[in-house]
Amino acid sequence: MSLQDRRNNEGYKNWLRVGLALLATRDGLTNVTLRAAKELHAALKAKLGDSVEKCTCNPKKKEECKDCKSWRQELATHYKGNKSQIYWTNCTPNKWSKEPWEVAKVFMPRGQSIGNIGPETSDTSALLNFLVHCKCCNKYVSVKATQKVGHFQYSIP
Ligand SMILES: [Zn+2]
Repeated sequence: MSLQDRRNNEGYKNWLRVGLALLATRDGLTNVTLRAAKELHAALKAKLGDSVEKCTCNPKKKEECKDCKSWRQELATHYKGNKSQIYWTNCTPNKWSKEPWEVAKVFMPRGQSIGNIGPETSDTSALLNFLVHCKCCNKYVSVKATQKVGHFQYSIP
């Protein structure tokens, strides 16, 4: 297919439109997700302090140390949904007391990288999952509407 043919292909045009819509959705969620992450982080830090900075866990080996145990327990209380679906490997626990976005990554789909350091480096799905699964976000969004968008995104071939 030539470039000219591709540009005139309705399926290709729709694919581009959906991609642009997902980017616009992500941009629209940037402020609210960052605000929610900061609020959750402030509440956790006020309650738990910063001893988690001493954490020596290796998330890739699924080892948990005592320094991050209280943070994990508290984060799990904020998780809405099946707690076995929390992907602790998304995070670096010794950053939890310093970086709000590292806390938000607890609520995101598996596979978040260390390069995901804010809404701008997250994809739409990650932001929607944070909004759906974090109880702190419920005051900002309609979970039902958020799930509809997430379902739509997953159904795109
Ligand atoms: Zn630890």
